[in-house]
Amino acid sequence: MATPLGPLSTPLPPLPDDVFTSAQWSILLALMDTVVPRIVRASAASPSRAIDELVISEEEYGAIARATGREEGETLDAYLAERPSESEDFKGLLRRQLVSYAREDQRRPLMLILSILSTRPGSLLLTGYATPLDQLDIKSRTLILQSWGSHYIGAIRTLYNTLTSIGKMIHIKSSRLFPTITGFSAIPLKYSPGPSYEYTFLQFPESQSPAILDFDVVIVGSGLGGGISAKNLAEAGFSVLVVDKAYHYTSAQLPMTEAQGMIHLFENGGIIPSEDSSINVLTGSNFGGGGTVNWSASLQPQGFVRKEWAEDRHLPLFTSTTFQES
Ligand SMILES: Cc1cc2nc3c(=O)[nH]c(=O)nc-3n(C[C@H](O)[C@H](O)[C@H](O)COP(=O)(O)OP(=O)(O)OC[C@H]3O[C@@H](n4cnc5c(N)ncnc54)[C@H](O)[C@@H]3O)c2cc1C
Repeated sequence: MATPLGPLSTPLPPLPDDVFTSAQWSILLALMDTVVPRIVRASAASPSRAIDELVISEEEYGAIARATGREEGETLDAYLAERPSESEDFKGLLRRQLVSYAREDQRRPLMLILSILSTRPGSLLLTGYATPLDQLDIKSRTLILQSWGSHYIGAIRTLYNTLTSIGKMIHIKSSRLFPTITGFSAIPLKYSPGPSYEYTFLQFPESQSPAILDFDVVIVGSGLGGGISAKNLAEAGFSVLVVDKAYHYTSAQLPMTEAQGMIHLFENGGIIPSEDSSINVLTGSNFGGGGTVNWSASLQPQGFVRKEWAEDRHLPLFTSTTFQES
C-alpha cells in the first residue's frame, strides 16, 4: 500500500517560561476538567474516580453514539474519558495561550482570581463552598461554573466566557481522538501539495544602522488586501515592497496539524477574545494572511453593492459581464 503523502512537520517553538504558581495551575486545570469533563457511562463508572467522572446514563450514552455516528465502543469511550489535566498537549497549548498570547491586562486578573480560589475564604466567597475547586467533585464544579455564566459581577461572567471558550478550543486542537470521532481528516483526502510561488525575500544582516530601501510603494500586510494591491501596482509598473510580521510557509508544510496551524498561521494562536471574552476572532497571520487559511468560498456581491462600486467608486468592472462570468 502506498504511503499517504503528508505535510512536513513544523514544530512549535519551545514552551514559554511558566508564570503561574502550582496552586493557580491546580485550580485552572480543575476548571478545565469541568469545561471538558471526563464522561463515563453508568456501567463503566468507578467509585474511586467519582470526584472527576461525570456519569451519564446508558440512554444518554446511546444518544451521543448516535449523534457522532459512532458505534458504541472503545474509541467513543476513550474519547469521552479524555481529560485536559491528563493531556500534556492540552496543558502545553493552554500555557502558550495564557503566557505567550494573553495580554498582561487579561492574564493578571485571571491569576488573581485563581489565587483567591485556591484559598478556603476566597473559595467560599466566589463559589459558596469553603473547599477549593480542585478538591470538589465534578458535579459541584459544574454547578459553580454554570452559575458564573450569569453572575451579577461582570468580571466573573468574563471569566466564565474565557474558561469555556479557551477550554473547548484547546480541547479540539489537542484531543487525540476528536478527529477520529468527528471524521475530521487533518489532511484532505487525495491531497498532494501544489507548487509554491518562489518569492524573493530580502534578508537583512544584523546591524546597528537601519537598512535603506528605495521602493515606490510599501505595503504592510501580505493578506488578500495587501497581496492583490501589490500585484496590481507591480503590474502597473511600480516597484512594490510587501512586509509582513509573520513567516512564510511553503505548500510542502501545509496543511499543518490543528495545534501547529493555529500557532504558526493564525494571529495570537488563533484566539483573539473580545473585551468580555464573549466573541472570539479568528484571523490569519503568515505570509499570505487570511488567503493561506481561508476556505476560498466566493459569493457574488449583491447588485446594489456592485452598482455602487461601479458608479460611485468608478470601478466599471463590477457591473460588466466579464465580472459576472468570472
Ligand atoms: C478561517 C478563515 C476562513 C475564511 N474563509 C473565507 C472564505 O471562504 N471566503 C472569503 O471570501 N473570505 C474568507 N475569510 C476571510 C478572508 O480571508 C479575510 O477577509 C481576508 O483575508 C482579509 O484580508 P486583509 O488583507 O484585510 O487581511 P489578512 O488577509 O488577514 O492579512 C493581514 C496580514 O497583515 C499582517 N500584519 C498584521 N499586522 C501587521 C503589522 N503590524 N506589520 C506587518 N504585518 C502585519 C498579518 O500577519 C497578515 O498576514 C476567512 C478567514 C478565515 C480566518
